[in-house]
Amino acid sequence: MSTRPVLRFAPSPTGLLHVGNARTALYNALYARREGGTFILRYDDTDTARSTQAFAEAIARDVAWLGIPPDRVERQSDRLARYDAAVERLKAEGRLYPAYETEEELETGRLSRRRRGLPPIYDRGALDLSDAERARLEGEGRRPYWRFRLDGRKLAWADLVRGEQAVDTATLSDPVLVRADGSYLYTLTSVVDDIEMGVTHVVRGEDHVTNTGVQIEIIEALGGTPPVFGHHNLLTLPSGEGLSKRLGHLSLAALRKEGEEALAVAALAVLTGTSLAVEPVSDLDTLAARIDFAKISRAPARFDPAELSALTTATLHHLPFATVEERLAQHGVGGGEPFWLAVRGNLGRLGDAAHWWKVVEGPIAPPPQGEDAAFLAQAAERLPPEPWDGEVYTAWLNALKPASGRKGRALFHPLRLALTGAESGPELKALLPLIGREKAEARLKGEPA
Ligand code: GLU
Repeated sequence: MSTRPVLRFAPSPTGLLHVGNARTALYNALYARREGGTFILRYDDTDTARSTQAFAEAIARDVAWLGIPPDRVERQSDRLARYDAAVERLKAEGRLYPAYETEEELETGRLSRRRRGLPPIYDRGALDLSDAERARLEGEGRRPYWRFRLDGRKLAWADLVRGEQAVDTATLSDPVLVRADGSYLYTLTSVVDDIEMGVTHVVRGEDHVTNTGVQIEIIEALGGTPPVFGHHNLLTLPSGEGLSKRLGHLSLAALRKEGEEALAVAALAVLTGTSLAVEPVSDLDTLAARIDFAKISRAPARFDPAELSALTTATLHHLPFATVEERLAQHGVGGGEPFWLAVRGNLGRLGDAAHWWKVVEGPIAPPPQGEDAAFLAQAAERLPPEPWDGEVYTAWLNALKPASGRKGRALFHPLRLALTGAESGPELKALLPLIGREKAEARLKGEPA
């Protein structure tokens, strides 16, 4: 038997993914990648009223942007026949039973149990209905919905994040798996998929802890083996407010538009709320190697956009050329690897590279030379002949220093200003060979080039 893990990220396409969803997606995808397993992207789209194709496409874009392309894509809306079969099986085994109570009737039942000091769970009244009573209710126009009859037993699982967890399903209401209109609830569809797709690890937000006991029972009723579960803490806004896909909080699409680096988003989404240090990473494999479910905190963690912005900058300073080559081309930036290595340490956002490319490529307007004009003319004369390599700047300065008698700021600053039109920027040593002799000479003479 293969021991390769199978994990899935199962968003409902009912809104834009936010950084909290990214956290879940990344834990699953990167763990699968690290362990040589399979990562499935599954659209939990059985809620047809709220799911849209546009949101599904946005999710695909966001997942690709994060750099975690799925090995396999599934849509629950394509799998209705599988859920029909599971429902038939559960009905045949007496685990699904029809119920007819309205929401008001259920509420009355809960109040009455509370008054009697009992837990306000479903009293299983529908299990006591005779055939005749059922026929009468249906004759009144009531359509049944279907509940799963829990065993009422003590279940335990070793949670990857939370450690030993226990639940007594006798304290839970029998969950509804099929609505009166025949549509299926997530609890059923998710379990059927996890079994049939061979999911070995379910890593998700801790808002799902309370579903786990019920899901283990349904998995076993369908003849499956429960996967390993891990429930990570949730990310919140800096205010502590929970993230909402519906309200568009901290959406990946918005962060991308603001120029945040996907790798920075990934590093912060994975490392925030753990005992690990938040640090820039130069690729996702490095981040994958850091993942340790036991180091995830139990308390919710704040996601700070200001921290993300700083991490984007720090991330850019490390990125290898191959990672950014395509995006630089999209920004119209040339100069290859030498240009990237020259400027990456000066970027706040990748898009800033376009500014420095403009400086290299020209033309730039010559700033006034003032009292440095004679020195700059001398500097132009002493430019070494081409071809130029990485050492040309040092050779040039070594000639210029004794000739001009200048040193320090008096030497460097007028050169930088004339060559780049800017007070500060990437190292001239790296920029000069990229600018080239012809443009450098013209700029030093105060001509636009
Ligand atoms: N569609 C569910 C959600 O987005 C998936 C939960 C799960 O991973 O089981 O919350």
